[in-house]
Amino acid sequence: MTPVETLRGKRVALFGLGGSGLSTVRALVAGGAQVAAWDDDAKVRARAAAAGFATVDLATIDWRGLAAFVLAPGVPLTHPKPHWTVDKARQAGVEIIGDIELYARERAARAPDAPLIAITGTNGKSTTTALTAHILQEAGRDVAMGGNIGVPILDLPPPARARVHVVECSTFQIDLAPSLAPSVGALINLTPDHLDRHGTMENYAAIKERLVAHSDLALVGVDDDYCRAIAERLRRAGRRITLVSAAPSPLAEVWVEDRFIVARGAPGRVDLRTAPALRGAHNGQNAAFAFAAARALGIGGGDIARAMASFPGLAHRMEQVGRLGRVLFINDSKATNADAAEKALLTFHDIFWIVGGKAKAGGVEPLRPLFPRVAKAYLIGASSDEFAHTLQGAVAFERCGTLENAVEAATRDALASRAAEPVALLSPACASYDQFANFEARGDRFRALVAARIAAARETVEGNGT
Ligand code: ADP
Repeated sequence: MTPVETLRGKRVALFGLGGSGLSTVRALVAGGAQVAAWDDDAKVRARAAAAGFATVDLATIDWRGLAAFVLAPGVPLTHPKPHWTVDKARQAGVEIIGDIELYARERAARAPDAPLIAITGTNGKSTTTALTAHILQEAGRDVAMGGNIGVPILDLPPPARARVHVVECSTFQIDLAPSLAPSVGALINLTPDHLDRHGTMENYAAIKERLVAHSDLALVGVDDDYCRAIAERLRRAGRRITLVSAAPSPLAEVWVEDRFIVARGAPGRVDLRTAPALRGAHNGQNAAFAFAAARALGIGGGDIARAMASFPGLAHRMEQVGRLGRVLFINDSKATNADAAEKALLTFHDIFWIVGGKAKAGGVEPLRPLFPRVAKAYLIGASSDEFAHTLQGAVAFERCGTLENAVEAATRDALASRAAEPVALLSPACASYDQFANFEARGDRFRALVAARIAAARETVEGNGT
Protein backbone atom coordinates (compact mmCIF):
# COMPACT_ATOMS: atom_id res chain seq x y z
CA MET A 1 0.00 0.00 0.00
CA THR A 2 1.00 3.63 -0.52
CA PRO A 3 -0.14 5.58 2.57
CA VAL A 4 -1.31 9.06 1.59
CA GLU A 5 0.81 11.27 3.82
CA THR A 6 0.19 14.51 1.97
CA LEU A 7 -3.20 14.83 3.75
CA ARG A 8 -2.03 13.91 7.25
CA GLY A 9 -4.25 15.50 9.93
CA LYS A 10 -6.67 16.85 7.30
CA ARG A 11 -10.41 16.23 6.86
CA VAL A 12 -11.25 14.45 3.61
CA ALA A 13 -14.59 13.29 2.16
CA LEU A 14 -14.84 10.36 -0.21
CA PHE A 15 -17.70 9.10 -2.32
CA GLY A 16 -17.90 5.68 -4.00
CA LEU A 17 -17.04 2.61 -1.94
CA GLY A 18 -16.23 0.12 -4.68
CA GLY A 19 -12.80 -1.51 -4.89
CA SER A 20 -10.75 1.63 -5.50
CA GLY A 21 -12.81 3.63 -2.97
CA LEU A 22 -12.05 1.22 -0.14
CA SER A 23 -8.40 1.13 -1.15
CA THR A 24 -8.29 4.94 -1.04
CA VAL A 25 -9.91 5.10 2.41
CA ARG A 26 -7.31 2.63 3.73
CA ALA A 27 -4.43 4.64 2.25
CA LEU A 28 -5.80 7.95 3.56
CA VAL A 29 -6.33 6.56 7.06
CA ALA A 30 -2.88 4.94 7.03
CA GLY A 31 -1.41 8.33 6.16
CA GLY A 32 -3.21 10.03 9.07
CA ALA A 33 -6.18 11.74 7.36
CA GLN A 34 -9.71 11.87 8.84
CA VAL A 35 -12.02 10.38 6.25
CA ALA A 36 -15.79 10.65 5.87
CA ALA A 37 -16.78 8.02 3.30
CA TRP A 38 -20.17 7.35 1.70
CA ASP A 39 -21.98 5.58 -1.12
CA ASP A 40 -25.59 5.98 -2.35
CA ASP A 41 -26.03 2.23 -2.55
CA ALA A 42 -27.04 0.65 0.78
CA LYS A 43 -25.65 -2.73 -0.31
CA VAL A 44 -22.25 -1.20 -1.03
CA ARG A 45 -22.31 0.60 2.31
CA ALA A 46 -23.18 -2.65 4.09
CA ARG A 47 -20.25 -4.39 2.38
CA ALA A 48 -17.93 -1.57 3.42
CA ALA A 49 -19.22 -1.75 7.00
CA ALA A 50 -18.68 -5.50 7.06
CA ALA A 51 -15.09 -4.89 5.98
CA GLY A 52 -14.64 -2.53 8.95
CA PHE A 53 -15.12 0.85 7.24
CA ALA A 54 -17.22 3.51 8.99
CA THR A 55 -19.56 5.45 6.70
CA VAL A 56 -20.93 8.97 7.12
CA ASP A 57 -23.79 10.44 5.08
CA LEU A 58 -22.08 13.23 3.13
CA ALA A 59 -25.43 15.05 2.90
CA THR A 60 -25.13 15.74 6.63
CA ILE A 61 -21.51 16.88 7.01
CA ASP A 62 -20.07 20.39 6.95
CA TRP A 63 -18.23 20.63 3.61
CA ARG A 64 -16.42 23.83 4.49
CA GLY A 65 -12.88 23.26 5.58
CA LEU A 66 -12.47 19.90 3.85
CA ALA A 67 -8.97 19.53 2.43
CA ALA A 68 -10.18 17.44 -0.50
CA PHE A 69 -13.09 15.49 -1.90
CA VAL A 70 -12.12 12.14 -3.39
CA LEU A 71 -14.50 10.77 -6.02
CA ALA A 72 -14.49 7.22 -7.35
CA PRO A 73 -13.84 7.24 -11.12
CA GLY A 74 -17.19 5.59 -11.97
CA VAL A 75 -19.21 8.49 -10.50
CA PRO A 76 -20.27 11.31 -12.85
CA LEU A 77 -18.13 14.42 -12.48
CA THR A 78 -19.71 16.23 -15.43
CA HIS A 79 -21.94 14.04 -17.65
CA PRO A 80 -24.76 13.26 -17.92
CA LYS A 81 -24.91 15.51 -14.87
CA PRO A 82 -22.64 16.02 -11.86
CA HIS A 83 -23.31 13.73 -8.94
CA TRP A 84 -24.91 15.52 -5.94
CA THR A 85 -21.67 15.27 -3.99
CA VAL A 86 -19.86 17.07 -6.82
CA ASP A 87 -22.31 19.97 -6.49
CA LYS A 88 -21.72 20.05 -2.73
CA ALA A 89 -17.95 20.11 -3.17
CA ARG A 90 -18.13 22.87 -5.79
CA GLN A 91 -20.43 24.99 -3.64
CA ALA A 92 -18.00 24.69 -0.73
CA GLY A 93 -14.97 25.32 -2.95
CA VAL A 94 -13.41 21.93 -2.18
CA GLU A 95 -11.17 20.43 -4.83
CA ILE A 96 -12.35 17.17 -6.40
CA ILE A 97 -9.72 14.52 -7.05
CA GLY A 98 -9.23 10.77 -7.48
CA ASP A 99 -6.89 8.08 -6.24
CA ILE A 100 -4.41 8.57 -9.11
CA GLU A 101 -4.05 12.22 -8.06
CA LEU A 102 -3.32 11.16 -4.48
CA TYR A 103 -0.63 8.81 -5.80
CA ALA A 104 0.81 11.54 -8.05
CA ARG A 105 1.14 13.85 -5.03
CA GLU A 106 2.82 11.17 -2.94
CA ARG A 107 5.26 10.60 -5.76
CA ALA A 108 5.95 14.32 -6.15
CA ALA A 109 6.52 14.67 -2.39
CA ARG A 110 8.49 11.52 -1.68
CA ALA A 111 10.11 10.22 -4.84
CA PRO A 112 9.74 12.65 -7.74
CA ASP A 113 12.18 10.68 -9.89
CA ALA A 114 10.36 7.36 -9.38
CA PRO A 115 9.62 6.01 -12.86
CA LEU A 116 5.92 6.15 -13.71
CA ILE A 117 4.52 4.86 -16.98
CA ALA A 118 0.89 5.90 -17.47
CA ILE A 119 -1.13 4.45 -20.33
CA THR A 120 -4.42 5.58 -21.82
CA GLY A 121 -6.39 5.42 -25.08
CA THR A 122 -9.84 4.30 -26.17
CA ASN A 123 -8.75 0.71 -26.81
CA GLY A 124 -5.82 -1.48 -25.89
CA LYS A 125 -5.06 0.11 -22.51
CA SER A 126 -5.08 -3.10 -20.50
CA THR A 127 -3.14 -5.12 -23.04
CA THR A 128 -0.47 -2.43 -23.42
CA THR A 129 -0.20 -1.94 -19.66
CA ALA A 130 0.10 -5.67 -18.93
CA LEU A 131 2.59 -6.16 -21.77
CA THR A 132 4.76 -3.22 -20.69
CA ALA A 133 4.81 -4.50 -17.11
CA HIS A 134 5.65 -8.01 -18.34
CA ILE A 135 8.60 -6.76 -20.42
CA LEU A 136 10.03 -4.76 -17.51
CA GLN A 137 9.53 -7.67 -15.13
CA GLU A 138 11.26 -10.11 -17.47
CA ALA A 139 14.12 -7.63 -17.70
CA GLY A 140 14.52 -7.90 -13.92
CA ARG A 141 12.95 -4.59 -12.90
CA ASP A 142 10.85 -4.14 -9.77
CA VAL A 143 7.44 -3.46 -11.31
CA ALA A 144 4.16 -2.35 -9.72
CA MET A 145 1.21 -2.58 -12.13
CA GLY A 146 -2.31 -1.31 -11.47
CA GLY A 147 -4.73 1.60 -11.73
CA ASN A 148 -7.63 0.86 -14.05
CA ILE A 149 -6.33 -2.72 -14.42
CA GLY A 150 -6.19 -5.17 -11.52
CA VAL A 151 -5.04 -3.46 -8.35
CA PRO A 152 -6.10 0.10 -7.39
CA ILE A 153 -3.07 2.38 -7.54
CA LEU A 154 -2.90 3.08 -3.80
CA ASP A 155 -2.79 -0.67 -3.09
CA LEU A 156 0.55 -0.80 -4.94
CA PRO A 157 3.85 -0.41 -3.08
CA PRO A 158 5.00 3.21 -2.71
CA PRO A 159 6.87 5.04 -5.46
CA ALA A 160 10.65 4.60 -5.36
CA ARG A 161 13.51 5.34 -7.71
CA ALA A 162 14.26 1.63 -8.19
CA ARG A 163 10.63 0.65 -8.81
CA VAL A 164 8.64 1.22 -12.00
CA HIS A 165 4.91 1.88 -11.69
CA VAL A 166 2.98 0.92 -14.81
CA VAL A 167 -0.50 2.37 -14.53
CA GLU A 168 -3.54 2.13 -16.78
CA CYS A 169 -5.62 5.32 -16.69
CA SER A 170 -9.22 5.68 -17.81
CA THR A 171 -10.50 9.07 -18.94
CA PHE A 172 -12.42 9.40 -15.67
CA GLN A 173 -9.22 8.89 -13.70
CA ILE A 174 -7.27 11.45 -15.74
CA ASP A 175 -10.09 13.94 -15.27
CA LEU A 176 -9.61 13.59 -11.50
CA ALA A 177 -5.78 13.78 -11.58
CA PRO A 178 -4.74 17.35 -12.43
CA SER A 179 -1.12 16.98 -11.31
CA LEU A 180 -0.44 13.59 -12.93
CA ALA A 181 2.94 14.00 -14.65
CA PRO A 182 4.30 10.59 -15.67
CA SER A 183 7.87 9.93 -16.78
CA VAL A 184 6.40 8.17 -19.79
CA GLY A 185 2.78 8.78 -20.86
CA ALA A 186 1.16 6.83 -23.68
CA LEU A 187 -1.95 7.75 -25.67
CA ILE A 188 -2.66 4.77 -27.92
CA ASN A 189 -5.71 5.84 -29.93
CA LEU A 190 -8.90 7.89 -29.77
CA THR A 191 -12.28 6.89 -31.14
CA PRO A 192 -15.76 7.85 -29.92
CA ASP A 193 -16.57 5.93 -26.75
CA HIS A 194 -18.42 6.66 -23.52
CA LEU A 195 -19.54 9.98 -24.96
CA ASP A 196 -22.59 9.73 -22.71
CA ARG A 197 -20.12 10.28 -19.87
CA HIS A 198 -17.86 12.87 -21.51
CA GLY A 199 -20.23 15.02 -23.50
CA THR A 200 -18.45 15.64 -26.77
CA MET A 201 -15.59 13.93 -28.56
CA GLU A 202 -13.61 17.17 -28.12
CA ASN A 203 -14.05 17.04 -24.36
CA TYR A 204 -13.13 13.34 -24.26
CA ALA A 205 -9.99 13.95 -26.35
CA ALA A 206 -9.01 17.01 -24.29
CA ILE A 207 -9.04 14.96 -21.08
CA LYS A 208 -6.94 12.20 -22.67
CA GLU A 209 -4.52 14.83 -24.01
CA ARG A 210 -3.75 16.03 -20.48
CA LEU A 211 -1.98 12.76 -19.67
CA VAL A 212 0.55 13.10 -22.48
CA ALA A 213 0.79 16.90 -22.25
CA HIS A 214 2.33 16.55 -18.80
CA SER A 215 4.61 13.57 -19.48
CA ASP A 216 8.41 13.86 -19.55
CA LEU A 217 8.23 11.64 -22.63
CA ALA A 218 4.93 11.38 -24.54
CA LEU A 219 4.17 8.35 -26.71
CA VAL A 220 1.33 9.24 -29.05
CA GLY A 221 -0.40 7.25 -31.79
CA VAL A 222 -0.67 8.69 -35.27
CA ASP A 223 -3.36 6.36 -36.62
CA ASP A 224 -6.37 8.60 -35.97
CA ASP A 225 -7.08 12.29 -36.50
CA TYR A 226 -7.53 13.16 -32.84
CA CYS A 227 -4.20 11.66 -31.79
CA ARG A 228 -2.42 13.25 -34.75
CA ALA A 229 -3.74 16.67 -33.74
CA ILE A 230 -2.58 16.12 -30.17
CA ALA A 231 0.87 15.00 -31.35
CA GLU A 232 1.12 18.12 -33.49
CA ARG A 233 0.26 20.37 -30.55
CA LEU A 234 2.83 18.68 -28.29
CA ARG A 235 5.52 19.01 -30.98
CA ARG A 236 4.78 22.70 -31.37
CA ALA A 237 4.94 23.12 -27.60
CA GLY A 238 8.43 21.58 -27.70
CA ARG A 239 7.56 18.47 -25.68
CA ARG A 240 9.61 15.26 -25.90
CA ILE A 241 7.50 12.94 -27.98
CA THR A 242 7.71 9.60 -29.79
CA LEU A 243 5.09 8.90 -32.44
CA VAL A 244 3.84 5.35 -32.79
CA SER A 245 1.90 3.67 -35.59
CA ALA A 246 0.31 0.29 -36.19
CA ALA A 247 1.51 0.47 -39.81
CA PRO A 248 4.46 1.93 -41.77
CA SER A 249 4.06 5.71 -41.54
CA PRO A 250 6.38 8.58 -42.47
CA LEU A 251 5.24 10.37 -39.31
CA ALA A 252 6.10 7.62 -36.85
CA GLU A 253 9.33 6.83 -35.02
CA VAL A 254 8.10 3.37 -34.00
CA TRP A 255 5.78 1.34 -36.24
CA VAL A 256 4.70 -2.15 -37.24
CA GLU A 257 5.64 -3.52 -40.64
CA ASP A 258 4.76 -7.10 -41.69
CA ARG A 259 4.41 -8.18 -38.07
CA PHE A 260 7.77 -6.65 -37.07
CA ILE A 261 8.18 -3.67 -34.75
CA VAL A 262 10.59 -1.22 -36.31
CA ALA A 263 12.19 1.86 -34.70
CA ARG A 264 13.48 4.59 -36.97
CA GLY A 265 17.26 4.70 -37.01
CA ALA A 266 17.62 1.74 -34.64
CA PRO A 267 19.12 -1.60 -35.66
CA GLY A 268 17.14 -4.81 -35.19
CA ARG A 269 13.43 -5.47 -35.28
CA VAL A 270 11.08 -7.25 -32.92
CA ASP A 271 9.35 -10.24 -34.50
CA LEU A 272 5.69 -10.40 -33.47
CA ARG A 273 5.13 -13.68 -35.32
CA THR A 274 6.68 -15.46 -32.35
CA ALA A 275 4.32 -13.76 -29.87
CA PRO A 276 1.16 -15.92 -29.76
CA ALA A 277 -0.75 -13.58 -27.44
CA LEU A 278 -0.20 -10.57 -29.71
CA ARG A 279 -1.98 -11.67 -32.86
CA GLY A 280 -3.88 -9.09 -34.88
CA ALA A 281 -3.09 -5.59 -36.15
CA HIS A 282 -4.62 -4.00 -33.03
CA ASN A 283 -2.15 -5.91 -30.87
CA GLY A 284 0.64 -4.74 -33.17
CA GLN A 285 -0.31 -1.21 -32.13
CA ASN A 286 -0.34 -2.19 -28.45
CA ALA A 287 3.02 -3.97 -28.78
CA ALA A 288 4.60 -0.98 -30.53
CA PHE A 289 3.61 1.22 -27.59
CA ALA A 290 4.94 -1.27 -25.04
CA PHE A 291 8.16 -1.44 -27.07
CA ALA A 292 8.54 2.35 -27.05
CA ALA A 293 7.85 2.52 -23.30
CA ALA A 294 10.34 -0.26 -22.50
CA ARG A 295 12.99 1.33 -24.72
CA ALA A 296 12.49 4.61 -22.91
CA LEU A 297 13.38 2.79 -19.69
CA GLY A 298 16.54 1.41 -21.22
CA ILE A 299 15.45 -2.16 -22.02
CA GLY A 300 17.28 -3.67 -25.01
CA GLY A 301 15.57 -4.95 -28.15
CA GLY A 302 16.53 -8.59 -27.51
CA ASP A 303 15.02 -8.57 -24.04
CA ILE A 304 11.86 -6.92 -25.39
CA ALA A 305 11.51 -9.52 -28.15
CA ARG A 306 11.90 -12.42 -25.72
CA ALA A 307 9.35 -10.93 -23.32
CA MET A 308 6.83 -10.37 -26.12
CA ALA A 309 7.15 -14.05 -27.07
CA SER A 310 6.49 -15.15 -23.48
CA PHE A 311 3.62 -12.69 -22.84
CA PRO A 312 0.67 -14.81 -21.71
CA GLY A 313 -1.95 -12.26 -22.84
CA LEU A 314 -4.99 -11.16 -20.89
CA ALA A 315 -7.95 -13.34 -20.08
CA HIS A 316 -11.02 -12.92 -22.33
CA ARG A 317 -9.20 -10.86 -24.99
CA MET A 318 -8.49 -13.19 -27.88
CA GLU A 319 -7.22 -15.59 -25.25
CA GLN A 320 -6.09 -18.98 -26.55
CA VAL A 321 -7.83 -21.47 -24.28
CA GLY A 322 -7.06 -24.77 -25.96
CA ARG A 323 -6.29 -26.86 -29.01
CA LEU A 324 -7.89 -30.05 -30.19
CA GLY A 325 -6.17 -31.49 -33.23
CA ARG A 326 -5.92 -28.57 -35.65
CA VAL A 327 -8.74 -26.66 -33.96
CA LEU A 328 -7.79 -23.58 -31.98
CA PHE A 329 -10.18 -22.31 -29.29
CA ILE A 330 -10.23 -18.55 -28.66
CA ASN A 331 -12.02 -16.79 -25.81
CA ASP A 332 -12.78 -13.19 -26.79
CA SER A 333 -15.63 -12.69 -24.33
CA LYS A 334 -14.48 -9.09 -23.73
CA ALA A 335 -15.78 -8.27 -27.23
CA THR A 336 -19.08 -6.81 -26.05
CA ASN A 337 -19.71 -4.82 -29.24
CA ALA A 338 -19.18 -5.15 -32.99
CA ASP A 339 -16.09 -2.93 -32.93
CA ALA A 340 -14.25 -5.26 -30.56
CA ALA A 341 -15.45 -8.43 -32.31
CA GLU A 342 -14.16 -6.99 -35.57
CA LYS A 343 -10.60 -7.26 -34.22
CA ALA A 344 -10.95 -11.00 -33.70
CA LEU A 345 -12.66 -11.59 -37.06
CA LEU A 346 -9.84 -9.67 -38.74
CA THR A 347 -7.23 -11.83 -36.99
CA PHE A 348 -8.45 -15.31 -37.94
CA HIS A 349 -9.75 -17.27 -40.95
CA ASP A 350 -12.00 -20.35 -41.05
CA ILE A 351 -13.92 -19.14 -38.04
CA PHE A 352 -16.59 -21.13 -36.24
CA TRP A 353 -18.11 -18.12 -34.56
CA ILE A 354 -20.07 -18.23 -31.30
CA VAL A 355 -21.93 -14.95 -31.22
CA GLY A 356 -24.83 -13.30 -29.41
CA GLY A 357 -26.18 -12.13 -26.08
CA LYS A 358 -27.69 -8.77 -25.29
CA ALA A 359 -27.25 -6.92 -28.58
CA LYS A 360 -25.87 -3.39 -28.94
CA ALA A 361 -27.38 -0.92 -31.41
CA GLY A 362 -26.59 -2.04 -34.96
CA GLY A 363 -25.97 -5.64 -33.90
CA VAL A 364 -23.47 -7.48 -36.14
CA GLU A 365 -24.40 -5.61 -39.32
CA PRO A 366 -21.12 -3.59 -39.28
CA LEU A 367 -19.22 -6.89 -39.46
CA ARG A 368 -20.76 -7.90 -42.81
CA PRO A 369 -17.52 -7.31 -44.80
CA LEU A 370 -15.86 -9.94 -42.59
CA PHE A 371 -18.58 -12.59 -42.98
CA PRO A 372 -16.54 -14.42 -45.68
CA ARG A 373 -14.06 -15.36 -42.94
CA VAL A 374 -16.79 -17.13 -41.00
CA ALA A 375 -17.33 -20.81 -41.84
CA LYS A 376 -20.42 -20.93 -39.66
CA ALA A 377 -22.04 -18.98 -36.82
CA TYR A 378 -23.53 -20.40 -33.63
CA LEU A 379 -26.15 -18.10 -32.16
CA ILE A 380 -26.63 -17.78 -28.42
CA GLY A 381 -28.72 -15.53 -26.22
CA ALA A 382 -31.37 -12.86 -26.64
CA SER A 383 -30.02 -11.54 -29.94
CA SER A 384 -30.60 -14.81 -31.83
CA ASP A 385 -33.58 -13.65 -33.94
CA GLU A 386 -31.95 -10.36 -34.88
CA PHE A 387 -28.61 -11.92 -35.78
CA ALA A 388 -30.27 -14.77 -37.72
CA HIS A 389 -31.93 -12.09 -39.80
CA THR A 390 -28.59 -10.33 -40.43
CA LEU A 391 -26.72 -13.53 -41.29
CA GLN A 392 -29.48 -14.97 -43.49
CA GLY A 393 -28.10 -15.71 -46.95
CA ALA A 394 -24.58 -14.54 -46.06
CA VAL A 395 -23.31 -17.02 -43.46
CA ALA A 396 -24.42 -20.53 -42.48
CA PHE A 397 -25.70 -20.45 -38.93
CA GLU A 398 -27.26 -22.59 -36.25
CA ARG A 399 -29.43 -21.44 -33.35
CA CYS A 400 -27.84 -22.92 -30.24
CA GLY A 401 -29.54 -21.01 -27.44
CA THR A 402 -26.89 -21.68 -24.82
CA LEU A 403 -23.12 -21.46 -24.76
CA GLU A 404 -23.01 -25.19 -23.91
CA ASN A 405 -24.80 -26.14 -27.13
CA ALA A 406 -22.75 -23.68 -29.13
CA VAL A 407 -19.40 -25.05 -27.95
CA GLU A 408 -20.55 -28.56 -28.74
CA ALA A 409 -21.76 -27.67 -32.23
CA ALA A 410 -18.81 -25.43 -33.11
CA THR A 411 -16.31 -28.06 -31.95
CA ARG A 412 -18.06 -30.77 -33.97
CA ASP A 413 -17.98 -28.66 -37.16
CA ALA A 414 -14.46 -27.30 -36.64
CA LEU A 415 -13.10 -30.82 -36.15
CA ALA A 416 -14.72 -31.87 -39.42
CA SER A 417 -13.28 -28.86 -41.26
CA ARG A 418 -10.43 -29.30 -43.71
CA ALA A 419 -8.93 -25.89 -42.97
CA ALA A 420 -5.32 -25.77 -41.78
CA GLU A 421 -6.32 -24.08 -38.50
CA PRO A 422 -10.06 -23.92 -37.88
CA VAL A 423 -10.83 -21.49 -35.07
CA ALA A 424 -13.68 -21.99 -32.62
CA LEU A 425 -14.15 -18.40 -31.53
CA LEU A 426 -16.29 -16.90 -28.78
CA SER A 427 -16.49 -13.24 -29.77
CA PRO A 428 -20.08 -12.37 -28.90
CA ALA A 429 -20.30 -8.73 -30.07
CA CYS A 430 -22.88 -8.39 -27.29
CA ALA A 431 -23.20 -7.72 -23.60
CA SER A 432 -23.55 -10.86 -21.51
CA TYR A 433 -26.27 -9.84 -19.07
CA ASP A 434 -29.06 -11.90 -20.64
CA GLN A 435 -27.27 -15.16 -19.68
CA PHE A 436 -24.26 -14.30 -17.48
CA ALA A 437 -23.30 -11.98 -14.62
CA ASN A 438 -20.64 -10.29 -16.77
CA PHE A 439 -18.23 -10.92 -19.66
CA GLU A 440 -15.74 -12.57 -17.30
CA ALA A 441 -18.29 -15.18 -16.20
CA ARG A 442 -19.15 -15.84 -19.85
CA GLY A 443 -15.48 -16.29 -20.78
CA ASP A 444 -14.77 -18.46 -17.75
CA ARG A 445 -17.69 -20.71 -18.69
CA PHE A 446 -16.38 -20.97 -22.26
CA ARG A 447 -12.91 -21.87 -21.01
CA ALA A 448 -14.35 -24.57 -18.74
CA LEU A 449 -16.52 -26.01 -21.53
CA VAL A 450 -13.55 -26.13 -23.89
CA ALA A 451 -11.37 -27.81 -21.26
CA ALA A 452 -14.08 -30.41 -20.66
CA ARG A 453 -14.52 -31.00 -24.39
CA ILE A 454 -10.76 -31.47 -24.86
CA ALA A 455 -10.54 -33.80 -21.86
CA ALA A 456 -13.44 -35.86 -23.21
CA ALA A 457 -11.74 -36.16 -26.60
CA ARG A 458 -8.50 -37.32 -24.94
CA GLU A 459 -10.37 -39.94 -22.92
CA THR A 460 -11.97 -41.26 -26.07
CA VAL A 461 -8.59 -41.51 -27.77
CA GLU A 462 -7.03 -43.25 -24.77
CA GLY A 463 -10.09 -45.48 -24.43
CA ASN A 464 -9.71 -46.53 -28.07
CA GLY A 465 -6.04 -47.28 -27.53
CA THR A 466 -6.53 -49.90 -24.84
P1 ADP B 1 -9.01 -1.52 -22.88
O1 ADP B 1 -8.27 -1.77 -21.60
O2 ADP B 1 -8.66 -0.19 -23.47
O3 ADP B 1 -10.47 -1.78 -22.81
P2 ADP B 1 -7.99 -4.10 -23.78
O4 ADP B 1 -6.52 -4.21 -23.91
O5 ADP B 1 -8.63 -4.68 -22.57
O6 ADP B 1 -8.41 -2.56 -23.95
O7 ADP B 1 -8.67 -4.72 -25.08
C1 ADP B 1 -10.09 -4.84 -25.14
C2 ADP B 1 -10.56 -5.13 -26.54
O8 ADP B 1 -10.34 -3.99 -27.37
C3 ADP B 1 -9.77 -6.26 -27.20
O9 ADP B 1 -10.38 -7.50 -26.99
C4 ADP B 1 -9.83 -5.86 -28.67
O10 ADP B 1 -11.04 -6.29 -29.23
C5 ADP B 1 -9.85 -4.36 -28.65
N1 ADP B 1 -8.51 -3.73 -28.79
C6 ADP B 1 -7.39 -4.00 -28.07
N2 ADP B 1 -6.37 -3.23 -28.48
C7 ADP B 1 -6.83 -2.43 -29.45
C8 ADP B 1 -6.26 -1.40 -30.26
N3 ADP B 1 -4.99 -1.03 -30.15
N4 ADP B 1 -7.06 -0.82 -31.18
C9 ADP B 1 -8.35 -1.17 -31.32
N5 ADP B 1 -8.95 -2.13 -30.60
C10 ADP B 1 -8.21 -2.76 -29.67
